[in-house]
Amino acid sequence: MTYLAVPISGKDLKEVNEQIKSAKSGGAEMLELRTDMLSELETGVVKKAVKTAKGTSLPVIVTCRDKAQGGIGQWGPDKRVEILIEAVKAGADYIDCEYDNFVIGDVRERIVKELLEHSGTRLILSAHNFEGRFSDIEGLYEEIHEAYPECIVKLVYTAGQTCDCFEAFDLLKKRKVDLIVFCMGEDGVISRILTKKFGGYLTFASLKAAEATAPGQIEVEQMKNLYRWDRIDAKTELFGVIGDPVGHSLSPAIFNACFDKDGSNSLYLPVLIKGGQEEFTEFMENLTVSSDGGYGFGGFSVTIPHKAHALKYVSKAGEFIEPLAADIGAVNTLKIGIGGRVSGYNTDYAGAMDALCTVLGAGKHELHKVDVAVVGAGGVSRAIVAGLAEVGAKVTVYNRTVSKAEALAEEFGCKYAGLEGIKGMNAKVLVNCTSIGMYPEVEASPVPEECLCSEMAVFDTVYNPLETMLLKQAAEAGAQTVNGAEMFVRQAMAQYKLFTGTDANEEIMRKTVFDCLS
Ligand code: NAP
Repeated sequence: MTYLAVPISGKDLKEVNEQIKSAKSGGAEMLELRTDMLSELETGVVKKAVKTAKGTSLPVIVTCRDKAQGGIGQWGPDKRVEILIEAVKAGADYIDCEYDNFVIGDVRERIVKELLEHSGTRLILSAHNFEGRFSDIEGLYEEIHEAYPECIVKLVYTAGQTCDCFEAFDLLKKRKVDLIVFCMGEDGVISRILTKKFGGYLTFASLKAAEATAPGQIEVEQMKNLYRWDRIDAKTELFGVIGDPVGHSLSPAIFNACFDKDGSNSLYLPVLIKGGQEEFTEFMENLTVSSDGGYGFGGFSVTIPHKAHALKYVSKAGEFIEPLAADIGAVNTLKIGIGGRVSGYNTDYAGAMDALCTVLGAGKHELHKVDVAVVGAGGVSRAIVAGLAEVGAKVTVYNRTVSKAEALAEEFGCKYAGLEGIKGMNAKVLVNCTSIGMYPEVEASPVPEECLCSEMAVFDTVYNPLETMLLKQAAEAGAQTVNGAEMFVRQAMAQYKLFTGTDANEEIMRKTVFDCLS
């Protein structure tokens, strides 16, 4: 079992008791009393806190973290050992002592003596690195294990990039004894969740984001509901969205809701990859070049800024690329097959064209010779222009950077102009493919209000907010409108089919998107 432990960080007994109650009702499987966070650190208070925590019948860890390793109070070493010994006497199931302190002076002797007298308590020997990775994590693991073989080794380090998490997974795969290992920081988030798949002894989740006791800690509610904690096991198949940023992506919510509905043992994660082509390739190579069966990833959605990197990666690896994705110059879906072979697809194109045609009540070929204004010349614009060009629509691309509009227009045989050219347009369909109007700039619109009229259909690919300023003004002018969620849901459904071979539950996807956005 991998425990979902909730740190209790109250500054006095009242707060501690309240947090214990909330943690129990929120689904905690273990409690960690962070006694270093008490404003008055007294053995009597710790004894009472342990008693209350034990009353929940959840296993209890008592920690009095050294400030040098992430603790809060400026408590001296003697005081901290005194607190841990009191916790053992009070019946704590585990005490956590920093390995660096365990080996100093008589600390080891004092703690071991107490543990021998109270066999119900286990020792966690921990090491933390807030700066980055340990220089030799395997060596450190062996050293701590040999120092006290009955202990649970705990190694927590800061990931500078998501790739740093693989070291934690590899160590878990090799472990012979109980082991806690995961990464801190936003790049370490997946390791906090996936430690369950790889057999870690526990992970931590906070009651609320504001009560997180370490960087990157996920809320217990999210861990249980969004990341399907109870369902994760060694066989869980993994998917994710690769991008930067990914923290606010709706994709984990919609995919996990569908997996849940289907009763599927699959999990979808946000995968932050900072940097460019080099970092993207490094991540994919780490993932696929594994001698012992890999990590269980079956595919990825790819978003800004990695769609072109994904195309290049798959091209170089010489695997299958959907021809249209190559034409568009962007891959937004990666499927990982047998032996780690990766194939690339683009579902933005189909998602956008399908959304547009459904709302227009027209087949895509009815767009033949129709005047369409496409605002923007980035990745989404390329997909939509490719789709429109394929059916012979008369497209004009408007973009802030005119040279990009020109390049795109030349490639697909369209016209182009700068953004100010929109004032003179005469289009029946207008598609916004820029981020203008996206949260938090919700008052902005890429098109002057006076350009909108009742004979037009206006499609905004932005989906947060659902009704952008452009769509609001278009509706007021009497135009037909299509919001970005229509495209988002459709491209995600196409991805789901590629990942799983089965149809996504459209109702669940749609409801999840609308619930998240409204
Ligand atoms: P991208 O490749 O970065 O392109 C961004 C485009 O927006 C470029 O044309 C850029 O113009 C323009 N732009 C950005 N800020 C601007 C500003 N302040 N003023 C004028 N133009 C501006 O991004 P993308 O992948 O194409 O995504 C674009 C938008 O599509 C996203 O913001 C997102 O809302 C939406 N989207 C929707 C879905 C969906 O499923 N509904 C999926 C993906 C994306 P320059 O060339 O001059 O920089």
